[in-house]
Amino acid sequence: MKRSAILWGVLLLLVVMTMGVWGAVVELSRPGQLRVTFLNVGQGDAILIESPTRRQVLIDGGRDRAVLRELGAVMPWWDRSIDVVIATHPDADHVGGLFEVLARYEVQTIFQSGVQNDTLQTESLLSAVSRERSNGAEERLARRGQIIDIGGGAYIQILFPDRDVSGLETNTASIVMRVVYGDTAFLLNGDSPKTIEEYLVLLDGVHLKSNVLKAGHHGSDTSSAISFVGYVSPEWAVFSRGCDNTYGHPHQEVVDLMKRFEIATKDTCLDGRVSFTSDGKSVLAK
Ligand SMILES: [Zn+2]
Repeated sequence: MKRSAILWGVLLLLVVMTMGVWGAVVELSRPGQLRVTFLNVGQGDAILIESPTRRQVLIDGGRDRAVLRELGAVMPWWDRSIDVVIATHPDADHVGGLFEVLARYEVQTIFQSGVQNDTLQTESLLSAVSRERSNGAEERLARRGQIIDIGGGAYIQILFPDRDVSGLETNTASIVMRVVYGDTAFLLNGDSPKTIEEYLVLLDGVHLKSNVLKAGHHGSDTSSAISFVGYVSPEWAVFSRGCDNTYGHPHQEVVDLMKRFEIATKDTCLDGRVSFTSDGKSVLAK
């Protein structure tokens, strides 16, 4: 009796282990696909990009430890490294969780805009970055014209800053980028305001075209200039925001603009974690 109980226990353990292995195989068997996931971190941004060759890029880390729970749910359990971290700008809702990420994951390259903020989060981030650098990580300033190769033909194109932004207001200094794979693209813009969006319309015009736009500044009416949204002309706009935000994000004006342009919206408050996959030809929302 006791022996059969042990046998059943061993059998159960084997079944659980087999399921774990198959889960990992399924996780790795998406060849040729790019996945972009807007993590559910409350009011803030944290976006994980997984390239067709499984390289990982984390853009911002939300305001607290919520990002760790989300990364744990999306990344394979054995994976403790992230190839590239991009901090769009050093406001708490973007970098508050990043030092937790740097403490727990091995990161190869860290991009930032070069602007600083006198907050505790910035200080914690700076010390976490210098610790990561002493472990061999490379720190770089993001500048227009840079192309970050993420494998399998996918790349990140930096659109802004095109200058030294150390004296600018933090939102204005946000890194703006396009994640490109084949004919598809995602436009990610931190909390970049309308003035910068309109400037990018002048510089890039129709080359801004993307399948998915992260509505700037969590759907605030300080972003999403009509001309910018028109040139990006996305199928989807994503509001990365918490239900509990006191700013009223997304603002009605921005919600109405998306409706007027017949752009479908996803919202991390209403939808939770929002994921898109691209095969290089079209983008599917999950
Ligand atoms: Zn923000």
